[in-house]
Amino acid sequence: MKILLVASEVAPIIKIGGLGDVIGSLPKALSQNFAVDVDVIVPFFPYANVAGYALYKNIELLVPYNGVTYTVEVYATKLPDSDVDVLLLKNNTFFANPIPHFYADTLTEVEVFAFFSRAVVEYLKLKLNTYDIVHCNDWHTGLITHLLEEEFDTDRPRTLFTIHNILYQGIGSITTPYKVGLTPGMHPALEWNLEDGCVNLMQQGITSSDFINTVSPSYAKEILLPEFAGELSDLLKAREGRLSGILNGIDYTFFPRKYDTLSFSAEKLLVKKALQVKLGLPTTSIAKTIANVSSPTTPTLDMPNPLFSYIGRLDSNQKGLDLLYDALPYLLAHGGQFVLLGKGDPIWEAKFQALAKAYPASVAVTIRFDENLSHEIYAASDFVLIPSKYEPCGLVQMIAMWYGALPVVHKTGGLRDTVTHLVNGLTYENQTPESFSQCLANCFTLYAEPKKMATLITNALNADWSWSSSAEKYMQLYKKMEELNG
Ligand code: ADP
Repeated sequence: MKILLVASEVAPIIKIGGLGDVIGSLPKALSQNFAVDVDVIVPFFPYANVAGYALYKNIELLVPYNGVTYTVEVYATKLPDSDVDVLLLKNNTFFANPIPHFYADTLTEVEVFAFFSRAVVEYLKLKLNTYDIVHCNDWHTGLITHLLEEEFDTDRPRTLFTIHNILYQGIGSITTPYKVGLTPGMHPALEWNLEDGCVNLMQQGITSSDFINTVSPSYAKEILLPEFAGELSDLLKAREGRLSGILNGIDYTFFPRKYDTLSFSAEKLLVKKALQVKLGLPTTSIAKTIANVSSPTTPTLDMPNPLFSYIGRLDSNQKGLDLLYDALPYLLAHGGQFVLLGKGDPIWEAKFQALAKAYPASVAVTIRFDENLSHEIYAASDFVLIPSKYEPCGLVQMIAMWYGALPVVHKTGGLRDTVTHLVNGLTYENQTPESFSQCLANCFTLYAEPKKMATLITNALNADWSWSSSAEKYMQLYKKMEELNG
């Protein structure tokens, strides 16, 4: 079986968020564990980190778009430590400029990815009968199924459309389908979509692919509700028989770690001190910091301050930043230290930076994307805060566990499926300040009971979120799709 995985990013070459991690690790797990050949195809954006990769120009494509034929150079390399080919599509008109807000579904991005979809289909035409399955990811790839229908009719590869985040939908101009060469009348789902004067690429992927899946079992149920998927929930309900949820995994080789279940207690303290020094935070004991502050519990006097962190995109719609920001005074008043690494919404970047200025002794904020620093923060943290309003799967809680940092999460989506309260982390049910604050109080109580804390950390370190079981589920789905073909 040969599969083409189509996406906007692939770690470690291009990584904006969790999608990049998934596209960089799922194909490795598939090709290592099953008799399957997987190629990945992505745009060759200028921020692709290809230093040190053996990169060669493979072929050139002629891609028609809006009445003009563009040349696209196909470069090929391998994912590190694997047989997986990564194909990077280079074009100076569409893929040459860094896109500032990659996740925002602006018109410009819709154009970029409509062109990308056309280019992928031109590639598939050149590689006729090579791929059995085209596995598309998120709105960026939503037009591919219709294009395949036009090019190959019923003799086309089977398509799987994976929803990584249903609220980014790629809403574009009504002219976009025409520019890629689609005739809406031949595709009722597309024609119907255009009636309101614009195209929704996520909707196209959902309505026209053979199968749909999303990245956790809980999110697969949640997106059937309008509060999670808006108007798309009805369309998903209509295709419920073709919809499933497969939890993402992580590739542990991306995350270096110096300790294990036997050595974590001493080692994590050292890493924590090193990070505190690096970020200019005191390494003093909690007793000194919380003197005169009424604590929800009585910590041991010589315990260092509990270190809480947030690592992730500063996305105000999804990540519960308001809840986090409002709870920080409570956290700091009780001797917690807070470290944030993230970038995104400029308003939130400024708010957190101002907070760090106001509390230099207990808050450190770094506004950038920094893989190495993220590993240091995970390793140093006692608790990693993930107060997301919704979370399709979430990788941060899995990475946190690997580093023995307890995830503190809202019970939603993949967070619900991976974190069990007081077993491998802490959870809260309602997205309210009261519920989150109570959960933070539970963190302090737990922190003051080192034995119990150590049990939870051990459970977290023992958790297995590798791809092995999820890759098997993808294989089963691909096989089911092939049978449909026959
Ligand atoms: P999302 O896909 O919504 O961004 P996930 O939890 O699925 O969230 O994945 C986020 C991934 O991106 C994790 O690997 C996380 O460590 C990483 N990440 C996010 N922001 C940063 C940052 N500023 N620096 C380094 N890594 C980051």
